Amino acid sequence: MRKTLLHLLVFTILAGCSKSDNEPANALPVAYHNKGTGASAHDLLSADAYTSLKIEIQYMPGYRPQDAAVTHLVSLLNARLNKPGGMQVVYREVPASDKEVLSVDEIAALEKQYRTVYTSGKELGIYFLFTNGGYTQSNVLGIAYRNTSMCLFGKTLHDNSGGVGQVSRSNLQATVAEHELGHLLGLVDIGSPMQTPHKDPDHGNHCSTQDCLMYYASETTAILGFLPGNDIPVFDNACLADLQANGGR
Ligand SMILES: [Zn+2]
Ligand SMILES: [Zn+2]
Repeated sequence: MRKTLLHLLVFTILAGCSKSDNEPANALPVAYHNKGTGASAHDLLSADAYTSLKIEIQYMPGYRPQDAAVTHLVSLLNARLNKPGGMQVVYREVPASDKEVLSVDEIAALEKQYRTVYTSGKELGIYFLFTNGGYTQSNVLGIAYRNTSMCLFGKTLHDNSGGVGQVSRSNLQATVAEHELGHLLGLVDIGSPMQTPHKDPDHGNHCSTQDCLMYYASETTAILGFLPGNDIPVFDNACLADLQANGGR
């Protein structure tokens, strides 16, 4: 009886350890991924510390991003980041949330539960979660909430794209994913210092140029009025100069 109890106790402790230790043996502490948005801008842009990139895309059932959107995102990463070791995308479906809206704390808790790709050796890991609902602020399509973490709100994206008279779904997904990525790359003035003044005084950490990818509207439903002809916005020259000055291409 006593022996069984002891075994059970030992087993529980071991199970507890392995659960919190599902990263590769040589991975940096998860603490690396708990910094503020923009804190890893130089690590992402340059090859100084990390020579390759692994992108983990997790999605709730029915909200996997379209292949065209991910292809566009990866081509932007290839164009701007110095990663001679290449880039890899891994997908994983995660269970649906039963909440219609999620707060940033709830999103961070889901990331902690499900994320598997962390920075390891010379490879930097970044994370996207596509949810089945919206954000606590209903007009928001996506957020970048840590140095390697982004969330896109699948239902809000679906409700505002792909229908008659609406923008194409893959273009909207690409626009929002690339805008949030821009924040991870330190735009605007959160990790990649401004080379010329172009920060929007009314919308912190965004670009003042209306047709730039980093214009504030790119992550809210307000973008729908700014996507003429369904084009995916690109970084303007001011944002590009910031990225290049911080180790990017
Ligand atoms: Zn933004
Ligand atoms: Zn800009």
